[in-house]
Amino acid sequence: MLSTTVLDTNWMGRARSIAAVLLESSGHRAMIDPGPASTLGTLREQLAARGISVADLNAILLTHIHLDHAGATGVLIRENPNLEVYVHKAGMLHMADPAKLLASAERLWPGQLQILFGETLPVPFANLRVLNGGETLSLGSRSLEVVYTPGHASHHVSYFDSTDGTAFVGDAAGFHIEGEPFVVPVAPPPDIDLEAWSASFDAIASRKPARLFLTHFGYSNDPAAHIAEYRKNLQRWSTLAAGILRSTQDQQAGLEAFVAAASKEIEQRLPKAEAEHYIFNCGLNITWLGLSRYHRKRAEAATTGSKARTN
Ligand SMILES: [Zn+2]
Repeated sequence: MLSTTVLDTNWMGRARSIAAVLLESSGHRAMIDPGPASTLGTLREQLAARGISVADLNAILLTHIHLDHAGATGVLIRENPNLEVYVHKAGMLHMADPAKLLASAERLWPGQLQILFGETLPVPFANLRVLNGGETLSLGSRSLEVVYTPGHASHHVSYFDSTDGTAFVGDAAGFHIEGEPFVVPVAPPPDIDLEAWSASFDAIASRKPARLFLTHFGYSNDPAAHIAEYRKNLQRWSTLAAGILRSTQDQQAGLEAFVAAASKEIEQRLPKAEAEHYIFNCGLNITWLGLSRYHRKRAEAATTGSKARTN
């Protein structure tokens, strides 16, 4: 038996916000991105409804280590010490010692980590399985190709399921609710990289997946069109952020201008209730911080580079 089941973790009491995926094959059970610990109660219920408990899981496959995808991992291992955790090498040490990851998240969501993500525990080294990209994982009778897809984060991989052509792309292809017409860029600090991201789009598209699966939220059935639109939207918001940075030195004013323009675009493209759900979930303020940091760092690198040339 081979099955792929989407589990809605109902993050912050909202359906269609964060999805975990259960992959079952010949008695092997793996979960892609279990979500944060704050939604573990829902995850357990979802598993129980299928006659499964955390103790029955064999592996966790992380697309990347952001808390909304990977935060529950340490707590799950406390419950099931046999779990194998697959993670890109750039994220491995942060799973083993999440102090820096939590400090970085605390800067983005001051005082709110507990309510948003719950308890984040270290993952013992013995449980970690390091990925570089390029591996093929055999899970029961299913095989998954691992592709390194940085851009949203330096530690991001995607999993390609050869059995049905699904590409599990985590956050590499934006925020998009299944069936809706708009893909919203999600570009958090500290390590978004638009050039690397563009290469990741090529890597995903060139494998011609039958469909994408996004953690936020669900399937997208026309991967080529989805990626083309996401490229365009990400580029447009990057240009918007760069323009705002040129027009003001004030971070707060910049943030407000970006969030206002981005919210307006979402509201123009989606029905009111859907627009509100997108705006609640996709962290426009965080995307501003990511894009503005990316442009500032590039400008600094250009200045340092030209100084070095004139010296
Ligand atoms: Zn992420």
